[in-house]
Amino acid sequence: MRLILLGPPGAGKGTQAKILVEAYGISQLSTGDILRAAIAARTPIGLEAKVVMDRGDLVSDIVVNGVVLERLDAEDCKTGFILDGFPRTIAQAEALDRMLIDKGMKLDAVIEIRANDDELVRRVIQRAQESGGARADDNEEVLRKRLVVYSEQAAPLVAYYAERGLLRAVDGMAPVDEVAAVIKAAIDQ
Ligand code: AMP
Repeated sequence: MRLILLGPPGAGKGTQAKILVEAYGISQLSTGDILRAAIAARTPIGLEAKVVMDRGDLVSDIVVNGVVLERLDAEDCKTGFILDGFPRTIAQAEALDRMLIDKGMKLDAVIEIRANDDELVRRVIQRAQESGGARADDNEEVLRKRLVVYSEQAAPLVAYYAERGLLRAVDGMAPVDEVAAVIKAAIDQ
């Protein structure tokens, strides 16, 4: 099973990825996690990526594509994988297509977890108020910016995979178990 997971911050992407990893015995491949591990290990890629990530910009396609290519060859990806945080650009999606063709692999589905921006913000504010932590309006401003960035990045990718008949959009605002069931049904359809 080879999947891509798309979804805005706070929509439960990580939770659903874990459920899919268990259900299909596949590996989660998160480029953000791999890059953070490279930074912690002070590898040349990590040192290069750190400056860019600290600025909040995207790491170059060459670096990220290289990281993914290396992981696709790893033993734990033989049964399949779920890509999380990659691709983020059309150039990355095209590079992924080429990698998969080279390896004789095919994507099974691209899952887009859809969420209502106002509801996501409401949940974060509620959580902030309950924990008595940071000011809720600070959180709201940051989250709204991340949601705009996400939708700008995701829109072309959603179109790219819809054109290829791979896109499965699911409503991420339902309870976790229900979302998981809908995702599995969409994959198995
Ligand atoms: P994430 O954990 O997915 O939010 O990623 C954290 C940071 O890692 C991003 O802000 C980017 O700087 C970098 N990153 C992760 N995945 C990618 C990607 N596919 N393309 C470019 N940069 C990425």
